[in-house]
Amino acid sequence: MSDPLLVLIDERSALLRQVAELGDFQPGSISSPTMRCGKPSCHCAKPDDPGHGPYYQLTQKIDGKTVTQSLASPAAIRKAESEIAEYRKFQHLTDDLVGVNRKICRLRPVEQTAPSAQEKKRSKRSKKKSRAK
Ligand SMILES: [Zn+2]
Repeated sequence: MSDPLLVLIDERSALLRQVAELGDFQPGSISSPTMRCGKPSCHCAKPDDPGHGPYYQLTQKIDGKTVTQSLASPAAIRKAESEIAEYRKFQHLTDDLVGVNRKICRLRPVEQTAPSAQEKKRSKRSKKKSRAK
């Protein structure tokens, strides 16, 4: 394992395994705003009142739009928190994956498109398949 290219390929496989092992994930952030209901007789109308809530919500940007979902129970909050944590892991892993791949691209010789005999066989087989179509 002294070949730096093989070491990097190994590293890449390990990162891909970690991506495969991630739980459910999604981007977003959790906030817990309080609210004023607007009734003048309510306690929240007083200026130093904390208002109603806090109401936990998950905020995400989807296709440029901000979308908010309410998190109605402590279990829903915990679920969203763990999904966001998994998403952060996914982001770190993809950053690492891009970095390792960049190094592999730099080290991979131009003429060596298939790194092993096994992969050569595989690409030949897929060529035959596409010709049969
Ligand atoms: Zn109120």
